[in-house]
Amino acid sequence: MNNLIEYENLSKLNNPFFQEYKLKLEQFLEKGWFVLGDEVKTFENQFAKYCGSKHCVGVANGLDGLVLALRSLNLPEESQVIVPSNTYIASILAIFQAGLKPILVEPDIATYNIDPILIEGKITPKTKAIMVVHLYGKVCDMAPILEIAKRYNLHIIEDCAQSHGATYKGQKSGTFGDISAFSFYPTKNLGALGDAGSVNTNIDDLATKVRSLRNYGSSKKYFNDYIGYNSRLDEIQALFLNIKLKSLDEINLHKRKLASIYLENLNDAYIKPVVNKDYYDVYHIFNIRYSHRDKLKEYLNENDIRTEIHYPVAPIHQKATKGLFLNEKTPIAEEIHATTLSLPISFFHTEEDVYKVVEIMNKFVTTIN
Ligand SMILES: *Cc1c(COP(=O)(O)O)cnc(C)c1O
Repeated sequence: MNNLIEYENLSKLNNPFFQEYKLKLEQFLEKGWFVLGDEVKTFENQFAKYCGSKHCVGVANGLDGLVLALRSLNLPEESQVIVPSNTYIASILAIFQAGLKPILVEPDIATYNIDPILIEGKITPKTKAIMVVHLYGKVCDMAPILEIAKRYNLHIIEDCAQSHGATYKGQKSGTFGDISAFSFYPTKNLGALGDAGSVNTNIDDLATKVRSLRNYGSSKKYFNDYIGYNSRLDEIQALFLNIKLKSLDEINLHKRKLASIYLENLNDAYIKPVVNKDYYDVYHIFNIRYSHRDKLKEYLNENDIRTEIHYPVAPIHQKATKGLFLNEKTPIAEEIHATTLSLPISFFHTEEDVYKVVEIMNKFVTTIN
C-alpha cells in the first residue's frame, strides 16, 4: 500500500491549499451570501485576465458551458457543428443538447486533436460551426482551422476543459474562437471541489447572452428574455477556484516537469505525445499508445501503479448515440481508443513516482518482446 502510485487522489492534490480553503470557508459561512456573490465576480475577473479573454462567465460545469456557448450563437435548428471523433462524449452531448447536429472529423494520429486537413471535406451548406477540443492539454493546430472558418464563415467554439493555460504560438487556449468553455471538474488542471465551469469570449453580446442564459434567461430580476437555465457557478466553488487559480501556472509547470521525465526516459516502443516548439502543452492527461495496452495496464496494476484509459469507448459506439451516426466510420479514433493509456501525472505525484513508473514500464517492454 505504501508503495502504491495512484492515478489520482483529490485529497492529496488539494492538500497544499487546505489551510487557505479553511480560512476562507469560515468567512464564507459568516457572510451568508451563497449565490452569485463577490467570489464569482472575482473569479470571473481573474480568470478572464489569466486567459486573456475580455469576458468570463461562471457556469455550473463544463458541459453546460458548451451548451450555453452554442446557444448564445443563435444557430438555426439542425445546423451542423464539426467536432473531433475521439473527443470526450461531453463535447458531443453539448451539440445535441443545443439542438444541433454533430459532424465527426477524425483526429491527427500524432496530436490526437482534430485534423485540419479533414475538416473541409465535411463542410456542407448546413455547417455553421467548428467545435475544437484541445484534448489532453494540447491546443489544436489553430492557424489552418481559423483560415477554414474564415473562408466558410463558420463560428469556432473551443472546448477548453483540458487546456487551462495551454498555448499555441504564444496565445492561450480559449481566445482563438468566438467563444469557449472551461470545466473546473476536480481532476482538471484547474479543479474545484465539485462541479464548476466557465464560458469565455471577447464578444460583448455573446457574454451578455450567456450571463442571462445561466440565470433563467434573465438579466433583470423577474424579467426573462430567453428560455434559460439555472447554471450558475457556485459561490463556494468560486471561492476554492480563486485560491487555486493563483497556483495554476505552478500546477501546469509541475505536470510539464513530470511529462518531460516520461518523454526523456520511456522506451521508444511506447508512442509518446509529440512535442513542438509552437505549443505549450499542459498535460491534463499524459498518454502513451501501445499495441498491448491492456496487458501493460494489467502489469502496471500488479506492480501497484494505477493508470486510466481516456477513453475506452468511442462516442459513435456509445449506447446513447446508437443510430445517430449511421454509416460513420472513425478508424483513427478507434485506433486511439484501443491503444491509449494515461499515466500518473497529478500535482501530488513526485519525480520519484514517475521514475518508478518509467522503470516498470521499460522492464515490461523487454519481457514482452
Ligand atoms: C471534462 C470535460 C468536459 C465536461 O466538463 P464537466 O465540467 O465535467 O461537465 C467537456 N469536454 C471535455 C473535453 C472534458 O474533458
